[in-house]
Amino acid sequence: MSHSHEHDHEASAAISNRVKHLIGTLERRGILTESQVDATIHSFLSKARPANGFRVVARAWVDGEFKQRLLTDATSAVGELGVDLSHWAPVRIRAVENTHALHNVIVCTLCSCYPLSLLGPSPTWYKSEAYRSRVVRDPRSVLDEFGVRLAPDKEVRVWDSTSELRYFVVPERPAGTGSLSEAELGELVTTNGLIGTALV
Ligand code: FE
Repeated sequence: MSHSHEHDHEASAAISNRVKHLIGTLERRGILTESQVDATIHSFLSKARPANGFRVVARAWVDGEFKQRLLTDATSAVGELGVDLSHWAPVRIRAVENTHALHNVIVCTLCSCYPLSLLGPSPTWYKSEAYRSRVVRDPRSVLDEFGVRLAPDKEVRVWDSTSELRYFVVPERPAGTGSLSEAELGELVTTNGLIGTALV
């Protein structure tokens, strides 16, 4: 673990140096300034919060037609709810639905790609080498450690995100929630539920 941790630090130092070099080049050529880059990132992150994702899931639970549009083209369906998906790079998002027969879980095996606009910054464990490598090889054990115990006959699918295409999970609507309002349903949803490391 300590070895891979050091490796992560080396990798992030290398990326950080490349970013500094790139921004320096852009500044020298008069294309943009570091403060413009910072302002863009801050503006994006100020709108990127998990409440966006919770709202999308609650709407899908109460509105079957919205859910179909969400599963067909999540980028445009999420846009219908007024969630700002503008980003510093083109990103498509895709919703994957949990059912009684299927449980989905997301990862970025290469680095830490994540549906930031819907969920805000990712949890530290999501970026860890341990999660990224183990959830692909043995998703059931990892899910078990998160307290998600699945029936043996339930299929588990792991979705590997990229910088261009990022997944999120639509959990199953919990039983006994028929009388709850859409807003109350949204309060049941958790960040881990949208990653697939919780049932809701
Ligand atoms: Fe990544």
